[in-house]
Amino acid sequence: MSTAPHPSAAGLSPATVVVSAGRPAREQGGHINPSVPLNSTYVSRGVVSPDELSYARGDNDAWHPFEEALAALEGGADGGAAVDGGAVAPATAILFSSGMAAVAAAFSLVPDGGTLVLPRHAYQAGMVLARQISERHGVTLRYVDIADTDAVVAALDGADLLLVESPTNPMLEVADLPAVLGAARAAGVRSVVDNTFATPLGQRPLEHGADVVLHSVTKYLAGHSDVVLGALVTRDAALAATLREHRTLHGAIAGPFETWLALRGLRTLALRFERAQASAVELARRLAEHPEVAEVRHPSLPGDPGHERAKAQMNGFGAIIGVRPRPRPGAGDAAVTGTGPAAVDRADAVVDAVRLWLPATSLGGVESMLERRRRWGTEAHTVPEDLLRLSVGIEDVEDLWRDLDQALRA
Ligand code: PLP
Repeated sequence: MSTAPHPSAAGLSPATVVVSAGRPAREQGGHINPSVPLNSTYVSRGVVSPDELSYARGDNDAWHPFEEALAALEGGADGGAAVDGGAVAPATAILFSSGMAAVAAAFSLVPDGGTLVLPRHAYQAGMVLARQISERHGVTLRYVDIADTDAVVAALDGADLLLVESPTNPMLEVADLPAVLGAARAAGVRSVVDNTFATPLGQRPLEHGADVVLHSVTKYLAGHSDVVLGALVTRDAALAATLREHRTLHGAIAGPFETWLALRGLRTLALRFERAQASAVELARRLAEHPEVAEVRHPSLPGDPGHERAKAQMNGFGAIIGVRPRPRPGAGDAAVTGTGPAAVDRADAVVDAVRLWLPATSLGGVESMLERRRRWGTEAHTVPEDLLRLSVGIEDVEDLWRDLDQALRA
């Protein structure tokens, strides 16, 4: 399947790019949507060229339409702003079998004995993998509060890679992207930004100086809780080749059907994300005033520590909310600390009481979900035990509110 390079990505709004990028070439009677090519190998003879399809683990035309669309989104119209004042190379997206496969490929950029700077709060499986790499390959891990720019800059000294999540999972801390990515670039430290929570419609880290952007495509990009996929995006051709080679050698490749579903989901990203973000802003505002709530985290709230930064560098505030229910009277200082059996029971009771919201892990689907994050033993122990992570979907906001309200009061 040949896909024409998108003829007019430059100048188009991202809401248009999600619909129009990655289409087949326009020809009379041609398909308007990419097909699902099912091939493990391609006709190929003679010297192997990296630009030709030869074996479907190395490169696969099933991936190209989605990769083109994501590259156009993260690269931005006209390829985005020049970071070093020089010419800007186009972005390349590399699809993986899962977000974790993309994390593993990103971590492979740290040499044995090297140093990885990472947020103290970030997606927990990535943190587990970092610890394993540290133990097996002598990599030093430097944990930072990613919202504390001075601490991040100090930790960059002699480091090899900076991992940024912003907003973080599940604490919703917001990093100063231009400052920390600029500092990493100045210090010669490669940077990877996990953009899963914000999506390329919410922020474009390459424009702030990131070397690589990471996605769990499973979440907003695919958007329907029916596939597991991941991706990396970079403007650096040599880095793209290294990351592609990692994918080929580790076999962390996406299936054609899953890829097709992800592109199908991407077509409605702008509508879904706009709705989910608007509902999240409204729900966060109401939750902050709810008598049964001890604490709410959402960057839209004027009192949230990430509010000003999110306003400056994001388009919207994302659709993930952190909530700690108020423990029942007599539960001691659980309301303050968010720890202990009373706090845990109270939060679990809210999860048990919802009827519309789905009690489930994951996020970014059309359906609203919630879970108590510390039910995962691998979640960072500085995350309050009673923190509920809410992923706001696209249902009617009043229905979502009524269900949350009754569950908090139950
Ligand atoms: N990054 C973030 C922020 C995530 O939330 C997740 C999964 O929840 C991942 C990466 C890993 O992605 P996947 O589950 O697609 O492997």
